[in-house]
Amino acid sequence: MTSQIKIPPYRIHVAIPGPFNGPLGYCHHSPVALGARCLVPLGRRSVVGVAVAPGPDGADYPIEKLKPIGAVLDPDALLPADILALAAWLGRYYLHEFSSGFLLALPALLRKGGGAELPVEEWVTLTVPGVAILPDQLKRSAAQQQLIALLQDISTSTVRALRERGFSRGQLTSLVKKDLITIQIHQDDQPIAPTGTLFEPALELNDEQQLALDAVNREPYSPFLLEGVTGSGKTEVYLQAIERCLREGKRALVLVPEIGLTPQTIRRFQSRFQDRVVALHSGLSDAQRLSAWLQASLGQAAIVIGTRSAVLTPLPNLGLIVVDEEHDLSYKQQDSLRYQARDVALKRAHDAGIPIILGTATPSLESLHNAQTGRFGHLLLNHRAGGMALPGVETIDMRKQQHQNGLSERLLMRVADHLADGNQVLLFLNRRGYAPSWFCADCGWMADCVFCDAHLTHHRQGYSNICHHCGHREAPRKSCPTCHSNQVSAMGTGTERAEELLGELFPAVPVIRFDRDAASTRHKFVAQLERTDLPGPAIIVGTQMLAKGHHFERVTLVGIWDIDIGLFSADLRARERMGQLLTQVSGRSGRGERRGEVLIQTYYPDDPIFVPLKQHDYRTFANDLLAERQRSGLPPFGYLAVIRCDSAFADRAEARLQQMAHYLLSTKRVRVLGPIPALLSRRAGKHRFMLIVQSDKRSHLHQSLTPLHQHYPRDQQQVSWHIDIDPAELA
Ligand code: ADP
Ligand code: ZN
Ligand code: ZN
Repeated sequence: MTSQIKIPPYRIHVAIPGPFNGPLGYCHHSPVALGARCLVPLGRRSVVGVAVAPGPDGADYPIEKLKPIGAVLDPDALLPADILALAAWLGRYYLHEFSSGFLLALPALLRKGGGAELPVEEWVTLTVPGVAILPDQLKRSAAQQQLIALLQDISTSTVRALRERGFSRGQLTSLVKKDLITIQIHQDDQPIAPTGTLFEPALELNDEQQLALDAVNREPYSPFLLEGVTGSGKTEVYLQAIERCLREGKRALVLVPEIGLTPQTIRRFQSRFQDRVVALHSGLSDAQRLSAWLQASLGQAAIVIGTRSAVLTPLPNLGLIVVDEEHDLSYKQQDSLRYQARDVALKRAHDAGIPIILGTATPSLESLHNAQTGRFGHLLLNHRAGGMALPGVETIDMRKQQHQNGLSERLLMRVADHLADGNQVLLFLNRRGYAPSWFCADCGWMADCVFCDAHLTHHRQGYSNICHHCGHREAPRKSCPTCHSNQVSAMGTGTERAEELLGELFPAVPVIRFDRDAASTRHKFVAQLERTDLPGPAIIVGTQMLAKGHHFERVTLVGIWDIDIGLFSADLRARERMGQLLTQVSGRSGRGERRGEVLIQTYYPDDPIFVPLKQHDYRTFANDLLAERQRSGLPPFGYLAVIRCDSAFADRAEARLQQMAHYLLSTKRVRVLGPIPALLSRRAGKHRFMLIVQSDKRSHLHQSLTPLHQHYPRDQQQVSWHIDIDPAELA
């Protein structure tokens, strides 16, 4: 009888969630496919990891020291080789935990160890008439309308998932009888070759669009910046480039900003292509996300449209990547793994040797620089596609205007005129809430957050003062704590107050508000969008949510209510953002038949920012900023990282950064600024400091920063810190 335990002979490196700078070694009794998930022991727990490489080998790692894998969860690779490589690069490049890229690549249910098979299901698919129908044509049944609208949003679904959402079998059957959907039973795990067959014919391209498309088709490996004014038909160029990609049997990945991925966007792709389109966005349940992800990775979807994290979706035979509104801030993740999805997409396209199109009316300075120096192909669409003229842009000098809560007489009159003509008006105001402060008229006291270095914003809804940085709320004080005056009230105007004021001024016109409160979920956002489709005049009021590539066909006047704070922000990118925002918001005007008008209220009408913007010359504006960046060695002429540190004890946070600054300077490869207090120097009770690290060479920046994680644990003595590579803001 032998009681000898046999040591499993195969060694495998597994990426494990946690603060590790590399994979951990395990052993197993049979070979493990790279890219398969494994359940492995870690301390006393058992965690799901991803097998990423063979090894570890050598005398330092005797096999008896390696713990055996508990279970291999996937018989084959779940993440293909290209995604494994990209995920490993992510952790290295952004100097984050080794496993973070791998975990980002997996939907939540797979991260938790759930099954990766599409079950045998009844699949519901829209028919050709089902794709085309407008939901409200289904007159008598609200449920059927919702069902069609939902399917047009998520394309295919299973009967089970629809039943879970409260739809009945009977409602499905009625739609089958109307020939709007089909239901098929199959275990859908076979790939489906893309065909590029169209439901509706493509538009005939204008000359500029044709030149752009030809350029993409001619140089299959290059990145392109498609710089086209708002409404110039960029999407049509994407669609035709994708069509060609599908005809070659390849698949396409389209990234859009979070808020831009509306049912209208998805429908625009679905109504063009017969091939399967799946969407990946924050409105999906975990089960829907898993299903969409599996359809993509099994090769059933021909086109994946998704937001930031979709950049890591496995897609066999990927032939083209599109990043729409490439300048958009939502591509940069602002916590944990702080990646920039546009840059990851560029890396993915480069490694795969495929074209990538970055489209926007307002390129980021980085992309513009790359295009102007020949690293990207530069494609220009200078005219609006339908021949509509760009709107006229004028400033209103607020120093010379009577105004009511910041709404000038001049703007008010123009609003009234446009509404009287039956048009829609869009008013932009970058402050949510009722009023940005709660203020004593006698002594100037303002209500501040007790946990942050910030004023509280007054919200009429729920009647409370709320901190927009930590969420703290309190009841508004009726009298001043400093001088005991009872002349305390809301000061300034936020979107909530603007809505109230406009409702009083134009009682017969609907006021539709877009901000993080009125459109807090995707569902609410879409509901507000639908209200803008109703006939008749309307006022749309909101924050930068309005600037995200959405078409408001009937808007003829755009009013910029308040922009001045953006002129003076200390952040590096504030002016770039502001120029983009103004151009994008202005571009919402006059997209339909009628020429638009844009009026910008400001106390600083002579600010140079307005000159090029009035002439629709974003390029000159951006090139001026680029020249400034070059003088100061800032991106894209140098490389930047920010190290942020926070602690309940200011001295500890500052001291930690001081140590790091010493170390970094000793490498003699980087310049270091700081420690300095962050723009918001205290948030949620923690003091915040930062170091700005700069270098002319990317490799120097990385070489200097990489060892920091070995020297300084991420959380220690109530101090936590992180590195932000290519930061979106220096705050
Ligand atoms: P962008 O993405 O640049 O903002 P879109 O692609 O949404 O612009 O196009 C704006 C409008 O112009 C849409 O209504 C679109 O259908 C129309 N359009 C685009 N290209 C053409 C074309 N070649 N001929 C006619 N209309 C076009
Ligand atoms: Zn007072
Ligand atoms: Zn606060």
